Amino acid sequence: MSSYKIIDHEYDVVVVGAGGAGLRATLGMAEQGLKTACVTKVFPTRSHTVAAQGGIAASLGNMGPDNWKWHMYDTVKGSDWLGDNDTIEYVAREAPRAVYELEHYGVPFSRTEDGKIYQRPFGGHTTEYGEGPPSSRACAAADRTGHAMLHTLYGQSLKHNAEFYIEYFALDLIMSDEGECQGIIAWKLDDGTIHRFNAKMVVLATGGAGRTYFSCTSAHTCTGDGAGMVLRAGLPMQDMEFVQFHPTGIYGVGPLITEGVRGEGGYLTNSEGERFMERYAPTYKDLASRDVVSRCMTQEIRDGRGVGKKGDHINLNLSHLPAEAIHERLPGIAESARIFCGVDVTKEPIPVIPTAHYNMGGIPTNLWGEVLNPTKDDPDAVVPGLMACGEAASASLHGSNRLGTNSLLDLVVLGRATSIRAGKVIDREAELPEPNEAKTEAIMERFDRIRHADGSKNPAEVRLNMQWAMQNNAAVFRTSETLAEGCKELSEIWKEMEDIKVTDRSLIWNSDLMETLELHNLMANAMTIMYGAEARKESRGAHAHEDYPERDDEHWRIHTLAKVDDSGNVTLDYRPVHIQPLTTPEEGGIDVAKIAPKVRVY
Ligand SMILES: Cc1cc2nc3c(=O)[nH]c(=O)nc-3n(C[C@H](O)[C@H](O)[C@H](O)COP(=O)(O)OP(=O)(O)OC[C@H]3O[C@@H](n4cnc5c(N)ncnc54)[C@H](O)[C@@H]3O)c2cc1C
Repeated sequence: MSSYKIIDHEYDVVVVGAGGAGLRATLGMAEQGLKTACVTKVFPTRSHTVAAQGGIAASLGNMGPDNWKWHMYDTVKGSDWLGDNDTIEYVAREAPRAVYELEHYGVPFSRTEDGKIYQRPFGGHTTEYGEGPPSSRACAAADRTGHAMLHTLYGQSLKHNAEFYIEYFALDLIMSDEGECQGIIAWKLDDGTIHRFNAKMVVLATGGAGRTYFSCTSAHTCTGDGAGMVLRAGLPMQDMEFVQFHPTGIYGVGPLITEGVRGEGGYLTNSEGERFMERYAPTYKDLASRDVVSRCMTQEIRDGRGVGKKGDHINLNLSHLPAEAIHERLPGIAESARIFCGVDVTKEPIPVIPTAHYNMGGIPTNLWGEVLNPTKDDPDAVVPGLMACGEAASASLHGSNRLGTNSLLDLVVLGRATSIRAGKVIDREAELPEPNEAKTEAIMERFDRIRHADGSKNPAEVRLNMQWAMQNNAAVFRTSETLAEGCKELSEIWKEMEDIKVTDRSLIWNSDLMETLELHNLMANAMTIMYGAEARKESRGAHAHEDYPERDDEHWRIHTLAKVDDSGNVTLDYRPVHIQPLTTPEEGGIDVAKIAPKVRVY
């Protein structure tokens, strides 16, 4: 028996995560009178959502013609036909309502001259089903949209009676022997106590796993903890091989320069001063979709047209824009460029390079946020008591490539959908089951084992090895050789995890232990990314496989499911993409011929 004293709590719902997704879900639950706890390892307004810059997509049509069907078409095409079309329709239709809701909650959006919400163009967002000019669809609060949203949503959640457990680190899911989720166990970081949250519904909104890569735009806290918990529960992750590389991370350091810069008229150049995107994407140029722009930049560098002493990056120019426009629309960018690379954007270009940015894959869910554990007979079988939303989940709105500004949208639309569904399935009168003591014991034993790990390897070193294995073998371009090498390296690193040494044994503010727990989660994510990528013999969206350069819809228009067992064995399976939209043209829906797969050009 482990000697940890367990403090029990009882709730209808426990939401893990207080980023945009977790807060929108929490707010929706509390609003319906469900007794709700929100557990988060960082203070809510420090979640990575705070860093989102460019905007949130919605076809408001404030700056030119737009409608939800064009948004749906762009998202289907952006996903390279791997997205689930029911989810895509729901989100594109709901987007305007969600943005007006944010406005009413108090998000201080930038304004047009006549007082409407300001919108800017973003990559891959077009009009007339990809035939018209770029659409101005990204609703923005200058270049601090995520900051504005997160603070507003936190304020709104506090208005309702949700209870926040701040700086609690969720360790694992408590699953019943029948496979139902019954709660979580969390470690309170500031006093070392252990808490068991018994609940009728657990919602994982733990964000992405950007830190699997050496160079990424995401916060140090983006360690894919939700995926770690799900995989340890024996459930699969979906489409993890699709990792978005944002074209414009600051060279050498990583922080993001929003695509909003190109939306406002900025452009990329190579060592010859050429606006090379015109050659690759004649229609939308610098506003082609992200996977496309990242590949073109990498190609230019490979062909010897990179800039700088080593010829290993690209220039992003905005000095031709009026200084007032930069000051008003992109103040944060001007500041980041000054701080991180000493560049005055009104005079010089910003040195940039594609940088790991977003996980399209995640915990598989339906559009209502219910977590799926597909079986042979039912590819959409639901795990009772478990939901997921936000970047941690794969609903699958983004398929194999996410369009910029569709993630903030995902958080609020699907975060809300999760709460709508929970309101329907939770039986408010029912008693909570007796806590699963055997499972609790197993979770605490694992925690204790890691806490007392006494091997020879420093966790930070192991993490670095993992990050380089990912960076070198599963970046913008992949080959059979790099992916096989990546699998081999990661499997070796998995074994090194057995030999880790945690030097601090205390339970209070033990960052050594927390980072080791996060490393275990990161490793589980990395394995699903690399093995899923190794198996996928085609190129689609963010997965650019040089030995299989074409998309292969016949064999590969299918979601990957990856499980990892305790010994680091990965098993892969697949489930069909939802091709049917929610509604037919007679019901006002899109004509399916419009969204049928075709060659993806911009
Ligand atoms: C720099 C940057 C700029 C971006 N700009 C845009 C943009 O302009 N538009 C757009 O649409 N998208 C943008 N994105 C993407 C988007 O911001 C993210 O996908 C989104 O914010 C993720 O939100 P989330 O709520 O899922 O997770 P996060 O905001 O990452 O929050 C995760 C939460 O989970 C909690 N958590 C995690 N693990 C645990 C654990 N073990 N125990 C307890 N709590 C835990 C954390 O405390 C945190 O509260 C950007 C991303 C980055 C990195």
